[in-house]
Amino acid sequence: MNRLETDILVIGAGAAGMGAAICAANSGVSVIVVERNPDAGGILNQCIHNGFGLHYFKKEFTGPEFAYQLYSKTKESGIQFLFNHFLLQLDLKNKTAIFASEEGIKLIACKALIYTAGARERPFGSLLIPGDRVSGIFTAGVAQRLTNIENRLPGTKALILGSGDIGLIMARRLTLEGVEVVAVCERMPYPGGLARNIDQCLKDFGIPLLLSTTVTEVRGDGRLREVITSSLDENYNIIEGTQRSWSVDTLVLSVGLVPSTTPIMDYFSIDSKSRGVIVDNCMRTDKDWIFSAGNCVIIYDLVDYVTYQGEMAGRSAVNYIKNGNNPARYPIKKGNGVGVINCSYYVENSDLELYIRVNKPKEKAKLVVRSDNTIIYEGKPSAFIPSEMVRVKIKAEKIDDSFKKSSLVTEIIDL
Ligand SMILES: Cc1cc2nc3c(=O)[nH]c(=O)nc-3n(C[C@H](O)[C@H](O)[C@H](O)COP(=O)(O)OP(=O)(O)OC[C@H]3O[C@@H](n4cnc5c(N)ncnc54)[C@H](O)[C@@H]3O)c2cc1C
Repeated sequence: MNRLETDILVIGAGAAGMGAAICAANSGVSVIVVERNPDAGGILNQCIHNGFGLHYFKKEFTGPEFAYQLYSKTKESGIQFLFNHFLLQLDLKNKTAIFASEEGIKLIACKALIYTAGARERPFGSLLIPGDRVSGIFTAGVAQRLTNIENRLPGTKALILGSGDIGLIMARRLTLEGVEVVAVCERMPYPGGLARNIDQCLKDFGIPLLLSTTVTEVRGDGRLREVITSSLDENYNIIEGTQRSWSVDTLVLSVGLVPSTTPIMDYFSIDSKSRGVIVDNCMRTDKDWIFSAGNCVIIYDLVDYVTYQGEMAGRSAVNYIKNGNNPARYPIKKGNGVGVINCSYYVENSDLELYIRVNKPKEKAKLVVRSDNTIIYEGKPSAFIPSEMVRVKIKAEKIDDSFKKSSLVTEIIDL
């Protein structure tokens, strides 16, 4: 059995993993990055549209260009990559990870581990849509991979369910490749994706967006032939008499990403609702030597944020192996209006970077972070929408002076 040793072991070579690896290696420790695919970049490799890197590189790149820029940085840092290696399980007692590889089972012992395995797509089966068992139903990521990497089209006439960014981007991509996209349906009364993507991917191509609408049946014989959609009331119940038939051979699902935590869910704490790894603001899990970042923690809309959080995990892992410290940490709670938050704990005496997604649109509101009744941070009044993540930075001095060492509460206050 193959056995290797390293200071820091990173699982996953997407933006989060590469950000973590570069930051750690630049501090002089040894780093191995293990990736199940034959190359680095993760999901970025199939996202050939632009819109990546405006914050991190101060330039606009496509997904593969962003991945290439990061990967080039790893070349200067002496990081060892092991491709075609799949994480099977962890041996917590011996701080060792176990992989399947072409050379057989491989063990890698480390001083600190950074888990950055990204997210997976919610599948058709989870939607409980009745109908025939037909081909022609794809998740948006699979349709994107077929179109952009394998140079094959999923079909000729498509309906898209879900108006998250991936669905919107695929509506435009398929249209550009000659597929007729008849509509994008969204069960919520507001779109799930960024405003810029609604304009650039739907409005510019005349693709209708049907809000409060979902797919209620799929029909076909072997291949998909017909999709039935229905309108929904404010409680998401089907409004009878609103059924509409669409003659399509392809249904593309963009119904959400779920953090990829299956191989590690027995080892450290996972959020029971979102399935993301629970971390503090240093990206440390409830095991002091294991850190995590990127879409396996929460689903980010920008790769820049993922890379920053990866870097934080890299810095914290180095700090842990050099200083072995395990400072106290205190819970950060979700108050009114907050749907998703990273992180879940605040480490005392550290600067805090929070990523927040509201649970429904607010036309005029402000974000407040408080400890008991002391307000630590108050954002300017603005509009909030669930598709646009809010990033807040608060200096340690601001927090530790007023913090009662119990918990921090984040909330959105309507104005
Ligand atoms: C369609 C789409 C469009 C997007 N558009 C934009 C945009 O315009 N602008 C923008 O800034 N962001 C965009 N994003 C978001 C951004 O691309 C992602 O948030 C970011 O790339 C995620 O990085 P990650 O490292 O967390 O995950 P990933 O890129 O998924 O990387 C995780 C890596 O871990 C590996 N892995 C998983 N499990 C294992 C295992 N068991 N063993 C070994 N390796 C494993 C995977 O193979 C993968 O390489 C988009 C995302 C998508 C999907």
